[in-house]
Amino acid sequence: MEPVKKGDALVCSECGVELEVTKKCDCANCEIICCGKPMEVKENSSKGCCC
Ligand SMILES: [Zn+2]
Repeated sequence: MEPVKKGDALVCSECGVELEVTKKCDCANCEIICCGKPMEVKENSSKGCCC
């Protein structure tokens, strides 16, 4: 999983909980676990980045 950035939204595919990142992660391998699985970065975050 890529390091999360401020403003990223994370979603758990198991339970559907959503989190917003308020401080970026500097880890090379960032894994935020929910329900025993790494959370996914949600598309269409508030920034609307095209890439
Ligand atoms: Zn979960």
